[in-house]
Amino acid sequence: MSWSSYLAEREEEHLNELLDFLRIPSISSLPEHADDVRQAGQWVMARMTKAGIEHIEMMETRGHPVVYGDWLHAPGKPTVMIYGHFDTQPVDPLELWDSPPFEPVVKDGRIYARGATDDKGNMLVPILAVEALLQSEGELPLNLKFFFEGQEEIGSPTLPGFIAAHREKFACDMVVSSDGGQFGEDQPELLVGLRGLAAVQIDVKGATTDLHSGIYGGAVTNPLHALVQILATMRSADGKIMVEGFFDDVRDLTAEERAQLARVPADDVALEKELGVNGLMGEPGYTSLERRWARPTLEINGMWGGFQGKGVKTVLPNEAHAKITCRLVADQDPKRIAQALALHVAKHTPPGVTATVTPEASGAKPYLMPADHPGNEAAKAVHEELYGKVPYYVRSGGSIPFCSLFKEYLDVYTVNFAFGMNDEQMHAPNEFWRLSSFARAKSAYCMLLHELAKGL
Ligand SMILES: [Zn+2]
Repeated sequence: MSWSSYLAEREEEHLNELLDFLRIPSISSLPEHADDVRQAGQWVMARMTKAGIEHIEMMETRGHPVVYGDWLHAPGKPTVMIYGHFDTQPVDPLELWDSPPFEPVVKDGRIYARGATDDKGNMLVPILAVEALLQSEGELPLNLKFFFEGQEEIGSPTLPGFIAAHREKFACDMVVSSDGGQFGEDQPELLVGLRGLAAVQIDVKGATTDLHSGIYGGAVTNPLHALVQILATMRSADGKIMVEGFFDDVRDLTAEERAQLARVPADDVALEKELGVNGLMGEPGYTSLERRWARPTLEINGMWGGFQGKGVKTVLPNEAHAKITCRLVADQDPKRIAQALALHVAKHTPPGVTATVTPEASGAKPYLMPADHPGNEAAKAVHEELYGKVPYYVRSGGSIPFCSLFKEYLDVYTVNFAFGMNDEQMHAPNEFWRLSSFARAKSAYCMLLHELAKGL
């Protein structure tokens, strides 16, 4: 029997299994659901066992656990590690759900439940595909490891130390992530880049207390004015970042990369309308898609200080504050960017006040993989066969911690191979996943493992 008929015969069984998985309220951000996250991990272990995966164990991370397993009986063949996560986002606002988030409903070819597309549906797929290959062919075409985590939705806070401590166990030739999606039902994509993040707080201090603006105004620096002055030097009026050293490590877009990005449909007028703004702006010389995906940013996220009540208060405040985050691109380093910001602030602080810049711990490195990485080439071949189309090479303006972590600690790239879609209400009420994507994803994984065995 072929893997495709094995899968076809079990569509209903697989759907019922997914519904069971979705009933576990494994919300990683809420401490009262910690046991549910663990239970979801145990569910995954049982399903992996049934599929024929070996050496399955639950590993402790100081946070939510990681589930590991492997199948290593293809000597001389590459080793690929499959990634996914069994935790979910919280469900509020609950009143906006048409049915309870952890009581999955199948309706109009869709499965409605929290975690349906992100990521329980997608992460179950490789397990089912492996079972189909083992049952139909008796072996896998390459060696596999499995890394399923329970803390992706809170930013995988304890994974860096955990992966660093188990480098040998997780050693592999590349990672394939089952967390993510495709451009549309008829259009595949390959994710090749993610932006990183640097965050700082700026505190400006003047006199020891607030002052009477009638007595001292005119002779003493107002920290709010000083802060505005400092911030105004950070970006030109047309949106170019002016912080010295900021672009030192930025890898410029190649002509080929720009051509790839230009293939992705992007309608500025529609975007303006969708956002309710009367114009877009940004660094001169780049399209808005390039600005959002492939160029760094510097944004003031908040600023505060002084009097904010009703009416008038003739005060000369003695402090002012701002929070800034920068989205980073390869090869910018969050620490170096925080240093550049601190130097810039020191250089532009007017006399009469002091300014301190404090980096926030939550920095993230940018991620960029070669578009023609063998893993992408294999995924592309599968996409072309399934969709009859060349995938778009896309980036994301946000961050996915595990891609950078696997690169940093295991020195391997992550190929994103998952079948969610942007309209599936990820992180929102009425999250769903398409049954058609479930079926397509299982075949796609069987095909991908064979392609990878050929190409790596
Ligand atoms: Zn996810």
